[in-house]
Amino acid sequence: MRLVLLGAPGAGKGTQAVSLSEAFGLVHVASGDLFREALREGTDLGIQAKSYMDRGQLVPDEVTIMMILGRIARPDCEKGFILDGFPRTLEQAQALEEALKKEAKAIDKVLYIKVSVEELVKRLSGRCVCRVCQMPYHNTYCAPEANGICDRCGGQLFQRPDDNDETVKERVKVYFSNTAPLIDYYTKAGKLQEVNGGQEVEIVARELVAATT
Ligand code: AMP
Repeated sequence: MRLVLLGAPGAGKGTQAVSLSEAFGLVHVASGDLFREALREGTDLGIQAKSYMDRGQLVPDEVTIMMILGRIARPDCEKGFILDGFPRTLEQAQALEEALKKEAKAIDKVLYIKVSVEELVKRLSGRCVCRVCQMPYHNTYCAPEANGICDRCGGQLFQRPDDNDETVKERVKVYFSNTAPLIDYYTKAGKLQEVNGGQEVEIVARELVAATT
């Protein structure tokens, strides 16, 4: 099974991707995590991506497409994957479709997690993420059991530098201008399944599982 999780920053893609990948045994491929990993390792890719990420803007398509197509070509993705944060532009969606088509493959479903703008901004400003496994938490809605410590792996939690107020606004704006058109693109392709992301995490998770089957 090959899935795409679509939704604005803060819609809950990261959280839901973790439970979906566990439920279906699929590899979770998160473009933002891959960029952050490259940045930590100080690779050319990370250095190239940094200035865009710091401003809440999209890393150029060419770089992003190459990174993701390279990742999903690895053997662990053979049985299936969940894309989280990719595609974010029509060009990325088309490049993905063409690359899969060459291998007689396709995206099976696109799960769109819909959340209101007010809710997105609220969620992003209280968000923290595990430094080790990237699991997202929220100070109010989804706090870890022990302050500052990841429930899942015991790693330290931190606030992403691009979760500050100004960058959050830019990221939400970029989402509506560049990524929201994909809703139409995948609806026309007959692949889009919409889920109300404003509900409890467990309810959203259940509805996403139901939407894939
Ligand atoms: P995320 O963790 O998905 O919120 O992504 C963090 C940042 O990484 C974004 O604000 C972009 O700068 C960059 N990024 C992640 N995915 C993509 C993508 N598909 N296309 C372009 N830039 C991306």
